[in-house]
Amino acid sequence: MDASPPSAAQPAQPEAAEAPKPLLCQICKLEMPADAAGRHKVKTFTCRCCLSLQTTLYRNVGQTPVQGMSLEDRATFFQKCKEAPLAGRYTWQTVRSNLLSRLVSQHITEQEHAVEAERLPLSVWLARGWERPAVESCPFEDHDKLGRLYAVPIRKDVFRELHRKAEEKICELEKALREKKNQKRKSAALDSGLDQDDGPAVELDVAVESLATGRPAKEAKSGDKPEAVAKRTQKAVEAEKAKADKKNQVKVDLAAKALSIVTPFCKAVPTVLKQLPCVEKDGTAEADVSEDEAEALRRAESEASAWQKACAELLALREATRGAGVPLADLPFVLADLKVRKAAWGELLKSARRRIKEQRRNKEQAPSSPPAPKGRARRARAARK
Ligand SMILES: [Zn+2]
Repeated sequence: MDASPPSAAQPAQPEAAEAPKPLLCQICKLEMPADAAGRHKVKTFTCRCCLSLQTTLYRNVGQTPVQGMSLEDRATFFQKCKEAPLAGRYTWQTVRSNLLSRLVSQHITEQEHAVEAERLPLSVWLARGWERPAVESCPFEDHDKLGRLYAVPIRKDVFRELHRKAEEKICELEKALREKKNQKRKSAALDSGLDQDDGPAVELDVAVESLATGRPAKEAKSGDKPEAVAKRTQKAVEAEKAKADKKNQVKVDLAAKALSIVTPFCKAVPTVLKQLPCVEKDGTAEADVSEDEAEALRRAESEASAWQKACAELLALREATRGAGVPLADLPFVLADLKVRKAAWGELLKSARRRIKEQRRNKEQAPSSPPAPKGRARRARAARK
């Protein structure tokens, strides 16, 4: 090749100026095109798949298993996972089985002297009755002529034991992380009186950041110290709570106002209904009219008591969750409805009471006479107006 260096500053990479240099992911050790998505640090690059995988790992077992691996094992693990990506997102099941394989391999390597292993190509192991995933979970080396040779323990029971240990380790990590999360959830719930989800997203970003830099989350960025993140998160939670409380207060006020109207109404209706003339008892034209009124009153009372129940429930829930920022459900009415009903219910009661009074007066005036002639009450009412 006769590529002359474009500038004296880059004599070692003459083609750098023409074709952009490919990127090498520091984790999976795979070469990527220069415009590949990922995270750039001063001298290193981490591809997007690896970042996503790290997040999956972090969420399910923390970083510990990968940290303990040799760089080669780690690269193999990430490459293996990448063989079955789901649009850049990884299911924990896939990642977990690959992790298990790498841990088995790690154990075999670590106990090289105690575990007697034979180095043979995959096809030979398959012919000897080994399962492919089992063979692939063993350490390997690439041979010039024979290709990839897998160092599989000669004794299957030894392999099974190592496999069991690796499985145990993952379970332990999963359990430890679950407990840690539960603990965090509990203390967050105590703080806010609320049950929370997997924790705020801000926290995860810091975790991903620290994964990329390879440093613990504490030192991820001076501006992103856990205390600062916690403070920000706390502030956001407080703001959310204040917002919810403000909305709740409007509902609480409406409920209190409604109760002051529906409660006396619900109490009055049965008394009024009892006194209203009715067809069976009185058999008068008045009674006929008041049947309709009674029906209207019963309907109104049914609606009012539903509102009453909703208001009482809302106020009780508010008491139980005071300050926790729990959004309260909507009432079955708005203020305008309440105003309209207040007037209508008042009219119904007034009219019914008037009818009761008329009936009493009629009875007093004619205690032994037959039922009052038709239209008399109406005339009397007209006269009063
Ligand atoms: Zn990568």
